[in-house]
Amino acid sequence: MAAMTAKAAKKAMTGADELRDAEPRPVWWDGVQTGPRTEPLSGRRHADLVIVGAGYTGLWAAVEALTEDPARRVVLLEQDWVGAGASGRNGGFVSESLTHGIAHGEAMWPDELDELQRLGRQNVEEITGFLHTHGIDADLRLVGKTTLARTAHDYAALRDAVATYARRGDEVRFLDRDEVRADIHSSSFLGGLRTLRGGLVDPMALTLGLRRVAEELGANIFEGSPATGISRTGSTLTVRSAHGSVETSQVLLASNAYRPLLRRLRAWVLPVYDYVLATAPLTAEQLASIGWQQNQGLTDAGNQFHYFRRTRDDRIVWGGYDAVYHYGNAVRPELELRDASHRLLARHFRETFPQLAEVPFTHRWGGVIDTTTRFTPIFGTAFHGRLAYAVGFTGLGVASTRFGARVALDLLAGRDTERTRLKAVTGTAVPFPPEPLRWPAVELTRAALAREDETGRRGMLLRTFDRFGVGFNS
Ligand SMILES: Cc1cc2nc3c(=O)[nH]c(=O)nc-3n(C[C@H](O)[C@H](O)[C@H](O)COP(=O)(O)OP(=O)(O)OC[C@H]3O[C@@H](n4cnc5c(N)ncnc54)[C@H](O)[C@@H]3O)c2cc1C
Repeated sequence: MAAMTAKAAKKAMTGADELRDAEPRPVWWDGVQTGPRTEPLSGRRHADLVIVGAGYTGLWAAVEALTEDPARRVVLLEQDWVGAGASGRNGGFVSESLTHGIAHGEAMWPDELDELQRLGRQNVEEITGFLHTHGIDADLRLVGKTTLARTAHDYAALRDAVATYARRGDEVRFLDRDEVRADIHSSSFLGGLRTLRGGLVDPMALTLGLRRVAEELGANIFEGSPATGISRTGSTLTVRSAHGSVETSQVLLASNAYRPLLRRLRAWVLPVYDYVLATAPLTAEQLASIGWQQNQGLTDAGNQFHYFRRTRDDRIVWGGYDAVYHYGNAVRPELELRDASHRLLARHFRETFPQLAEVPFTHRWGGVIDTTTRFTPIFGTAFHGRLAYAVGFTGLGVASTRFGARVALDLLAGRDTERTRLKAVTGTAVPFPPEPLRWPAVELTRAALAREDETGRRGMLLRTFDRFGVGFNS
């Protein structure tokens, strides 16, 4: 390990101003034309399907709808620009799971978990095929992931989890202390669980690829066009925006954690901010000092977990840990930067990899995660089946949004499919309480989760939640 200089050690201890020069934007946007590329919606238009929100969910919905019926008139309304939301700023971990991990699936839907696992696997296979067919270079690497234990109780939990994976036909390998440190050179880790399933992608490149294909298929995207309201006259829905409107037979809401057009969604979806840093590209020597030869995704096992991965140009993207809810479901651009959370991330990075003390952070950003109490999206319809929604991917939507978009299209078509029959689709989440109770309830839960991380004991509050299949996660 390279020795830390006195200056670097001081910085590492205080975290002082080492983020001053970090660009306040996702590293994935480097070399990308940001901002709207289209004119906003104006005047009165007609469509067969209006999709609200042009992140992964909306873009996949457009691609799938137009693949099914190339003559369909599909309009996407995006309030900001394509990529400005979670889809352009996430960690890029591609998970097969449709259940927010196997343990949660086992707890919530044990009878249909095999089916959910099969559909999740098929989903990632089809995404892989789609990227290949359309020549999208999104740096997709199916290199799997290692989940890391930092505490004795997480070590025990990971070891116990092996049996669950095996029962569900998933091959995983438990790594003891020496094995995990031989792979990732950090004394922070006591053990790990290695899976070869899933992998990593450049999230913004995926968004741009989806946009290109959606437009090639004929989708009409309007950026800078917030949908402000929906009304129905007979069998026609009208979606209003600031300078125009669209009359349509169907609407698909893919608006993630942003203020929803359908009031009922406010009870189910909580916007939670997640923060991220990226380092400068590592030199060959710096890379050698941390090992990580398999270049897989890494996450901690705890409730408050870091996720980290390398980019195409060998930077480290290091995010997570804090999950911050702002009173009243606030979602505002200025909340994407939070000094306290970014400093904490920087400190944890230096503690985990002291040999990288000299590596500067070049980017910092945040993004909003659409959390539900059951950690998986909710689906449903309104306006007599003419509107469908798929929201609440709770921090695991890079791949599962494609599945979610297909569910929403099934619902709009009134189709009975293997997807729409799933309890994980038909069931609903326990609502979050309204304010002024919502904020203190989240804070209390966060404190209970942090206590569990420290002690390994699941307190009474969390055990009660478990009984009702309720939780808080990012
Ligand atoms: C920091 C961060 C890290 C993450 N890491 C991972 C990860 O590693 N792996 C993983 O699987 N998932 C991860 N996620 C989650 C994943 O990014 C999301 O689940 C996924 O991108 C959701 O896609 P979406 O299309 O539903 O939402 P978005 O990408 O947010 O798109 C929704 C769009 O709707 C638009 N919109 C909202 N309201 C309106 C309106 N009224 N009118 C018009 N437009 C509207 C928004 O502007 C936005 O562009 C992460 C999320 C964040 C924030």
